[in-house]
Amino acid sequence: MQMSQVQLRNDLDELPAYLAGKPALMGSDQRSFKLSANELPWPVDPAVTDAIMAAASGLNRYPDQIGARLVSRLATELSVAADRIVVGGGSISLVQLLLQTVADPGDAVVYAWRSYEAYPIVISTSRARPVPVPLRDHRHDLPSMVEAVRRTHARIVIVCSPNNPTGAAVTAAELDEFIAAVPTDCLIVLDEAYIEFDSAVGRPEGIALARRHANVAVLRTFSKAHGLAGLRVGYCVAPSRITAALRQVTLPFTVSAVAEAAAITALDVWARQRERVVEIIARRDRFADGLRRMGFDIPDSYGNFVWLPLGEASASLDDALRASGISVRTFPGDGVRITIGEPDAMDAVLAVARGWR
Ligand code: PMP
Repeated sequence: MQMSQVQLRNDLDELPAYLAGKPALMGSDQRSFKLSANELPWPVDPAVTDAIMAAASGLNRYPDQIGARLVSRLATELSVAADRIVVGGGSISLVQLLLQTVADPGDAVVYAWRSYEAYPIVISTSRARPVPVPLRDHRHDLPSMVEAVRRTHARIVIVCSPNNPTGAAVTAAELDEFIAAVPTDCLIVLDEAYIEFDSAVGRPEGIALARRHANVAVLRTFSKAHGLAGLRVGYCVAPSRITAALRQVTLPFTVSAVAEAAAITALDVWARQRERVVEIIARRDRFADGLRRMGFDIPDSYGNFVWLPLGEASASLDDALRASGISVRTFPGDGVRITIGEPDAMDAVLAVARGWR
C-alpha cells in the first residue's frame, strides 16, 4: 500500500503513552500472578454472571440511551436525584466527558502528580492544558493546587483520593478547606475510584459534597471494589447543570445493556462483595506491615494496592518480581505499585522482596 499522506493531529508524538498493567508471566517455578492493574483477584459473583447471560439475548437491540435503569437504581442507593447522575463506559470515559464538556481548548486543568496516568493523556487529547502539581510526601499538596488553579484560571481541578498509585487519601477536613478555597467557577472533580478501600475514620463523603456544592463532581466505578473491571461501567454525580451539559456532549449508548444489568445486580449483591473488600483491606495492611518489617519505607495506603517509592531501584525490583512470575506496575525512576491479590501472590512478593533487599 502507498504511504499514508493523511495529516494527523500535531501533538500525537508528545502524548504520554498509557501503559496498561502487564499480563502475568510464568515464573521459573511455573507460577504467575497479575498484580499490575488494581483488579480484584476473584471471579465475578455468580448472580452477576446470571444477569449478564440473561441480558445477552437482547443484544440485537440498542441499550437505553442513558442507562436509565442503572441511573435510577444509583439514585436510590445514593439518595441523589436521578438527573444528577451520568453513567459511562468506565470512570475514565467520564473524566474525558467532563473535560470535553467543561474545558475550552487551551484551558488549564490542574491535577496532582504522580497520580492516575490517564489524566495528562485525556487532558491533552481533549485539547485542554495539563497543569501537574507535585505530590508532597506522596499526598496531594492541596494548598499548592489551589494556588495553581488561581494562577492558571483553571476550569477543572482533579483530586484523586485515594490516589493511584501512592494510595494516599485526603481527609474530609482537608477537602472542605480546599473546596472553600477553590474559585467557584472551577469544577472540582473528585475521583473516588478506590473509595471503598478507604477505611480511614474521617474520610470524605464525596457524594454529599457533590450534593452540597455547585462546583463538585464525583466519579465512581464498578471496576475496582465491585470487581467488574472488564465490563466498563462508571458514574458521575454532579450538580444538575453539569450533568445536563454532560448529557448534551456524551455519545449515546455508552453503557451496554449487559453492563447495565450486571452493574444493577452488583449493587444487589454488594453486602457479599463488601466482605471481599474488607478482606483486601486486611491483606493490604498485613502486606504493608510485612514490607515495613523488612525495612521498606512505604506510605499508608487506602486503596487496593501498595506503593513502594524506590526511585532508581524500582526497575530492579520489577525485574526480580517478573523473574518469579509476578507482574506489577512500575514507574521507572519513581516507584512500584503492587495490587493486593491472592494470599499466595502476596507471600510470593514478600519472599522476592526479602531476597531483593
Ligand atoms: N480513576 C482512577 C484513579 C483509576 O486508577 C482508574 C483505573 N485504573 C480509573 C479512574 C478508571 O477506572 P475505570 O475506567 O475502569 O472505571
